[in-house]
Amino acid sequence: MKTVLSYGAGVNTFYMLLKLPEWGIKPDYVVFADTGNEQPATYDHLKRVAIPEMERQGLKFVTVKHPKWSSLLEYSLSTRKMPPRTKFRGQGRYCTTMFKLDPIIRFETSVRENKEAFTNLIGIAYDEIHRMSTVGRRKWITNAHPLVERHITREDCLTGIRLAGFEAPPKSSCDFCPFQKKSQWARTLRDNPSAIDDGINIELLFNQKMKEKLAAKGFEKTTFFSLRYDGRPLEEWRKNSAPKEIENLTKLEKFDAAQTFLDETCDMESCMT
Ligand code: SF4
Repeated sequence: MKTVLSYGAGVNTFYMLLKLPEWGIKPDYVVFADTGNEQPATYDHLKRVAIPEMERQGLKFVTVKHPKWSSLLEYSLSTRKMPPRTKFRGQGRYCTTMFKLDPIIRFETSVRENKEAFTNLIGIAYDEIHRMSTVGRRKWITNAHPLVERHITREDCLTGIRLAGFEAPPKSSCDFCPFQKKSQWARTLRDNPSAIDDGINIELLFNQKMKEKLAAKGFEKTTFFSLRYDGRPLEEWRKNSAPKEIENLTKLEKFDAAQTFLDETCDMESCMT
């Protein structure tokens, strides 16, 4: 039997990593599924803080990727697809399936010996219990949820990281993830503006494709499909509202109490790794 820590590189999985020795868990592998479009701050925390901690614990760290596409961005632009805001992976959320879940299963299959069973440790917190599924994507894989079992919330994770003297990672997600909220879009534009250019290109290409499809059927396209919850095209938002939002975000970030409120991205059943 093998155990894998499915490392999402956010607050929950980093806290789990810190607690593994105390919980008496030593996974055979810590696996990070890299979409190629994580936030720069996520890669930075991984490199500077998380990987050294894994080395200190003697854990094997593995990065897995899609076998063909170097990034979710490359795939989305080439196929003119847009990561969907659908709640469930089974409803065509190709980004999670293709770039996170499948690469992990591919890796596990490659190291599986004698039809052994696998346990995947998933970083869903107690207050995110609605995202939990104990059913693995293969019969030989079981999902375990150490944070839920111990009634540990996301806020507990954040506090625990700080009390242990570590720097907390940002909440991980792709930098143009459709699940991110307003504050994160503003933060992305301020800290990583080229990601917004990428998002705009994805939106434009996808909408062009939809227009062509409808025109072929004799219909006219009237709706704009956006990556944002509020449906606003990224380009329009960047021009009209973003400067003020960035100003307000920067003011709010100075207050520690606002951090949990602001530190939100994929909280709608998005990536479960
Ligand atoms: S973080 Fe968002 S865009 Fe990236 S794979 Fe997950 S749901 Fe898709």
